[in-house]
Amino acid sequence: MRYIAYVDMDAYYVSCEIRERPELEDAPVLVGRAPTSPEARGVVLSASYAARKFGVRSAMPVLQAARRCPQAIWIPPDLPKYGRIAGEIRDLLATRAERVIPLSIDEAALELDLEDPEPVRAWAASVQELLKERLGLPSSIGGSPYSIVAKIASDAAKPGGIRIVPPEETRAFLEPLPARAIPGIGPKTAQRLDQAGFHTVGELATGSTETLRRLLGRYADSVHALARGTPSQEMGRLPEDRGPRQHSLDRTLAHDTRDATEIRQMLTEMAGELSGLLAQEGLRYQSIVVRLRWEDFSQTQRGRQLPASHEGAAMLESEAIRLATDLLERERGERDRAVRRVSLSAGSFAPRRGRQTLLDEAAA
Ligand SMILES: [Mg+2]
Repeated sequence: MRYIAYVDMDAYYVSCEIRERPELEDAPVLVGRAPTSPEARGVVLSASYAARKFGVRSAMPVLQAARRCPQAIWIPPDLPKYGRIAGEIRDLLATRAERVIPLSIDEAALELDLEDPEPVRAWAASVQELLKERLGLPSSIGGSPYSIVAKIASDAAKPGGIRIVPPEETRAFLEPLPARAIPGIGPKTAQRLDQAGFHTVGELATGSTETLRRLLGRYADSVHALARGTPSQEMGRLPEDRGPRQHSLDRTLAHDTRDATEIRQMLTEMAGELSGLLAQEGLRYQSIVVRLRWEDFSQTQRGRQLPASHEGAAMLESEAIRLATDLLERERGERDRAVRRVSLSAGSFAPRRGRQTLLDEAAA
């Protein structure tokens, strides 16, 4: 069986900043809008491992992070830059594998032409070193012939590690991990499993089919098979290179708000991040959708098909703000509910024309 490797960059946004300011190497660095800035209601986008020791995590509200780690060094996000560096990572990985499938801005699955664990381990060490030497970025790498196990192994290897799991060691590798190590088991499901006495993947392996079906619904059988070390075909195979598709970002506000300025600021930030993601995948967008979820959990959306495709954050930002303003004005004339969550999607993708154009636009 050929191995699949997952390469996942460590504290990616923070690492992109530290490579320009190496004196911050071991400092508690947070990428996000500093709590002293007027936009202090955002969330932490990335936390260094030194900051994580204080209990700070990405997606934590900045004020909470500032309370937990008052000495944190805040760096404002530069999402177009992270998108450009992601392109460099992808180019480098493409020289080392048959296929590279980007999964997010800082994570990719690679299909290797290797069937034994030792050469895979050597391959991973050389790739990790290359990423560090050429790009100055730390990464973690997991490997297994099963895609989902390679992903879990890359998480288990963090930070800075390599974890290669031969197929016959799959069950033993998974056994001690918490149930939430399985992708798709979120905090709520993990809590439900915990209450039913399933704390580790090993405990899931010994659960009865009926109990697991009750707790996990239609995922029960595939989770059960994985926990016993024999992932289903679907979980085992390389994720499809789905090519052009829709990309979206969601942000829940720290407090429900009717403040249009706050929502506009959030969309500006999200447009930067989303355009960075698209840049990494080499995509131009031609449609934009903004969705607002209200305090009563209902949602409204508005979208626009653009006459031509675009790249970079500028069009995404201005259209997103226009669409959100429309939605808010209409709401004001009706129920005047506060906004709880903001989503921004881009779609109708076309391949980008040339790297140079992208770099120029992203740098502008
Ligand atoms: Mg990462």
